[in-house]
Amino acid sequence: MNLCTGTLISGALLCGAMALNAENSMESSYASLPAYAGEDLELTVNNSGTHFRLWSPQATAARVIIYDTDRNTAPTAQLNMTRGLQGTWTASVADKLYGKFYTFQIQHNGKWLDETPGVWAKAVGTNGRRAAIIDFATTNPNGWENDKGPKIGSIADVIIYEMHHRDFSVHTTSGIVNKGKFLALTEQGTRSSLGDKTGIDHLKELGITHVHILPSYDYNSVDESQLPSNKYNWGYDPYNYNAPEGSYSTNPSNPATRILEMKQMIKALHDAGIGVIMDVVYNHTANNDDSNFSLTAPGYYYRYRQDGSYSDASGCGNETASEHEQMRNYIVNSVKYWAEEYHIDGFRFDLMAIHDTETMNKVAKTLKEVNPQIFVYGEGWTCGDSPLPVEHRALKENVAKMEGIAVFSDDLRDAVKGHYSNAADRGFATGKPGNEETVKIGIVASTAHPQVDYSKGNNSKFAYASAPTQIINYVSCHDDFSLTDKLHISMEGSSEDEMMRAARLAQTIVFTSQGTPFMFAGEEIFRDKKGIHNTYNRPDSVNAIDWTLKNKNAEQFNYYCELTKLRKAHPAFRMTTAEAIAKHIVFDKVEGDNLISYSIKDNANGDEWKEIKLVFNGSTDAREVKIKKGEWTIIAQDGQLKADGMGTTKGGKMTIAPTSALILARVK
Ligand code: CA
Repeated sequence: MNLCTGTLISGALLCGAMALNAENSMESSYASLPAYAGEDLELTVNNSGTHFRLWSPQATAARVIIYDTDRNTAPTAQLNMTRGLQGTWTASVADKLYGKFYTFQIQHNGKWLDETPGVWAKAVGTNGRRAAIIDFATTNPNGWENDKGPKIGSIADVIIYEMHHRDFSVHTTSGIVNKGKFLALTEQGTRSSLGDKTGIDHLKELGITHVHILPSYDYNSVDESQLPSNKYNWGYDPYNYNAPEGSYSTNPSNPATRILEMKQMIKALHDAGIGVIMDVVYNHTANNDDSNFSLTAPGYYYRYRQDGSYSDASGCGNETASEHEQMRNYIVNSVKYWAEEYHIDGFRFDLMAIHDTETMNKVAKTLKEVNPQIFVYGEGWTCGDSPLPVEHRALKENVAKMEGIAVFSDDLRDAVKGHYSNAADRGFATGKPGNEETVKIGIVASTAHPQVDYSKGNNSKFAYASAPTQIINYVSCHDDFSLTDKLHISMEGSSEDEMMRAARLAQTIVFTSQGTPFMFAGEEIFRDKKGIHNTYNRPDSVNAIDWTLKNKNAEQFNYYCELTKLRKAHPAFRMTTAEAIAKHIVFDKVEGDNLISYSIKDNANGDEWKEIKLVFNGSTDAREVKIKKGEWTIIAQDGQLKADGMGTTKGGKMTIAPTSALILARVK
């Protein structure tokens, strides 16, 4: 989510701790409501007809309204619902109502609320205002029954590429026909206006393993009836959690189209050996009183302050209440649905610490039952205070309490490039001293290591991860300045070449660190966002990737390709236990600031390389280091990197160029 990309200050945590004592009567009345765990909520079509089941325990009446079209038409039928099991209301008709649309309406406190498509609409029409009844068998592309994502040994084997659909394909130079659409990623053989590979061919060339797509469920802010106006939004304003976003389809008014096209995208990526990670935002909704949650079970799904106002840990006007059983069931069943119906390979939870650890554990466990390959990670922070007790929040500091969940390391991020919100601040890779120990925390993926002093950590003071598989390392994402913009601002006066060197050093640290590397789409060709910090609703002219940069910055792109190749070829960078890291990683004593030197020793994690030596020089001066004598292959030197090596050295005294990485490897 935008704006909130840092660790909470201790004062905010204290406020949370005080608020937790104020359990109000509203809260306990919600806890006593019956939950419904069945997966047949809202709509089931089978041989006995069309069946509706709405969870709305406090309603005094409920009805289903049937339409022939997705908007602008009068109802054609109305079905009164009767009270059913566990807070649900039911209605049925004997026919399969394929092709029809519906909404629910409930009576609450003597008043009929506005119509809603419900919270479980799996197919919707334009702008998601009416749910659709369709035959899902018609939404599967050819070969879907055999479709599978790539196999991984652990999340440490994953290389994540974070991408917005419009950013990736909408620029005039992309050579892609379906600009800004799911289908963009199904186009093979696309080339930029200067002849470089774009689209899915570009992803294959780059060598990432998984694409993380920004929110692709149906969100609120882009008017799907006005697509020619090309409005842009990141999509962190959820409306229907269980249907794809219409503006990414070629026809939002046909409910099957967005589903089919999203599946076509997923299948094309899977066929290319690339996994698909979905960004999910269950922590808040776009609207408050008129959200689908509020219109089906008023009050139940949210947290409130003592004065009855919406609590707002999301910074977006409200926060959901995962500790309420029906909300917990909802999150768990929703991700399960995406995993089963859409073959999603991983989930990224926005502002995950708004959720409780019990919910996140249930999410991970349920997904592993669907497919043991699925992984989950999230932002281990909130954007404001919450009534949820700190010890229950899915914070990065609580990640050890969560099985199979990883968190973003803001430690490495801020230490390498400088503070995320202070534009001019520099970091280790841009010459600012004092970040060395925090970079080391990133290298060992926030696990306990005898040579890392957590008391000197900038953002965290203890080894919060119990395994490297709990950490996502990165230096930038869609939030905040792109790496390019951050370098442009903080390195003012330096040349473009010097900035690209700094980017290469920064990403070399990310890609060789333990944990899982994550990169923002386009950084491999030094894309920027026009120097703008928060671009969530800025136009394509700010957010789109200009693919001619791939030609201009070809050397940069090649470096990134070598980075992915290096990481994939060497399990030493992908250890899975804290014990292995503590055993195999040995830091060297070095003199002076902005210099880190370490070895990954003894064929770590089964690597063919006996020892890998990594030296990072974040200063603008050349530095001298002593390398043990031996038969070393040079992997990286002076801003160049070749995974297969570029010459040899006998070690001894070596000079490491300014703002660069020196990587050496020996097999004996
Ligand atoms: Ca939408």
